[in-house]
Formats: sequence, C-alpha cells, structure tokens
Amino acid sequence: MQQKPIISVKDLVKHYGDFKAVKGISFDVYEGEIFGLLGPNGAGKSTTLEIIETLREKTSGEIIVDGFNLDNAPNEIKKLIGVQLQSSGYYPGLNLVELIQLFGGLYNGKVNPMDLLGTVNLRDKAKAKFKELSGGQKQRFSIATTLINRPKIIFLDEPTTGLDPQARRNLWDLIKDIRSKGTTVIITTHYMDEAEILCDRVAIIDSGKIIALASPDKLIDDLVAAGFEKPKEVKQANLEDVFIHLTGKQLREE
Ligand code: ADP
Ligand code: MG
Repeated sequence: MQQKPIISVKDLVKHYGDFKAVKGISFDVYEGEIFGLLGPNGAGKSTTLEIIETLREKTSGEIIVDGFNLDNAPNEIKKLIGVQLQSSGYYPGLNLVELIQLFGGLYNGKVNPMDLLGTVNLRDKAKAKFKELSGGQKQRFSIATTLINRPKIIFLDEPTTGLDPQARRNLWDLIKDIRSKGTTVIITTHYMDEAEILCDRVAIIDSGKIIALASPDKLIDDLVAAGFEKPKEVKQANLEDVFIHLTGKQLREE
C-alpha cells in the first residue's frame, strides 16, 4: 500500500445557515486505498463527500485532490473523480446502454458501454430500463456510471443500503475489484461488518467532527487494550451465516 495522499482535507467547515454540519475536519485519503466514512445519520458524511466532489460549496477549509486545489481547479478535480449520479437523472425511456452513451457524451473520452456493463456484471441487462433492475443491479449500474470517465477516485455514498446479503457481498467483490485496478475508493456505510471487510482505514464522524481515524484492526485493538470486554461469542456462526448457508451465495435477482 502506497502512503501517498490523493485527497487532503484540512479544517473543513460547512454551515447551513446557523447550523454547523461539519466542524473543522482534517484527513488524508491515500492513493489506492478504500477509505470509509462512518457515522450516525446527520454526522456530515454526505456533506463532506459532496464538497470534495465539487457538488456543494464549503464554508471554509482547504481541499487538495491529486495536487489540485478545489478553490482554483474544480474542473481539473471533476475530471479525476467518479461521482454517482442521482437516479432521477436516468431518463426513463432509455436502456442501460443508451444511458451510458448519454453520460459518456458528457465527458470527452470514449466509452464502450458493453465493456463497462461487463465490469459490473450487467451485460445481460444491456437492453433493460433502469426501473426494471433489482436493487443490487441498480447499485451496480450506479457504480458503472461512476467509472465512465476512468476516474482515479470514486465516491460511493451508502452503496449497499437496503440490499439483501447476497447482493451486498456481490457489491463488496465489485468494489474490491475496482480498487485492485488502482482506483481509490471513498465509501460511506452504516454496516460495520462491511467497513471491517472492505476498508483499509476508516474515519468515524460524529456531529461534524472526526472522533477516530485508523484501520479497523487498529481501532478494535485500541478498544480492547483500553479494557473493553464483551461476553464471548459461544456460537461459531450467526444468523447471517445461516441465511447465506440456506439460500446460497449466488445472486437471486434475475
Ligand atoms: P450524513 O450523510 O452523515 O447522514 P449529511 O451530511 O447528509 O449527514 O447531513 C449533516 C447535517 O446537515 C444533518 O443534520 C442534515 O440535516 C444537515 N443538512 C444536510 N444538507 C442540508 C441542507 N441542504 N440544508 C440544511 N441542512 C442540511
Ligand atoms: Mg448521508
């Protein structure tokens, strides 16, 4: 793992009117890592992501993405990043290939829709409309749209919320696969098992402040070292293991 920061956030502050949503947070995201932003609803995760994505104005602070300062080179940053588009922007009359062609037209690069659909395992849905997809397929398509401009960094805001256990695991594989090709991933999630499996490092945000930042392993070890104990798990499996064992690992959406 290289330790070169590809995103550097310093003293980021965001006020909505009188409300202080982000209260001076600083963190680096290293090139090639999967970085998790964790925190309760309303903690400021989406606000932070959307500011880095150039979709929202910050109140103050400094953001550098791959050497470009957000204040004077937002368009350079836009070229480097993959952003999940709002699904309301998916024209209902167009199929998946047509949507990718449409979005591809927004960037100047060439995009091969079937290759891209293959990356997210949706080739056989090429002629389907977005609304005809299962929840997991919709998320995979949404991730495909982030890859259209061959970004160095992608942002995924709660990509697995609402998915069944199989679809969630399938998405983990896809995200790991994208990272293994060199793309840096920033993800938010409410599932701690997911963060533990996927993320190299996580920042825990609460009420607009970062209260912890390290690898999941380090955070767990620190908690244990501080004397934390819980009753030993006596069972070798949990209900999710039962579910996966009984229903299988394969996707059930087709
Ligand atoms: P998270 O993604 O961690 O759930 P958000 O970044 O969406 O949190 O929101 C952080 C806080 O800012 C919340 O209290 C939310 O209600 C508030 N907030 C978000 N967007 C706006 C907005 N456009 N106007 C006013 N308040 C907002
Ligand atoms: Mg959010």
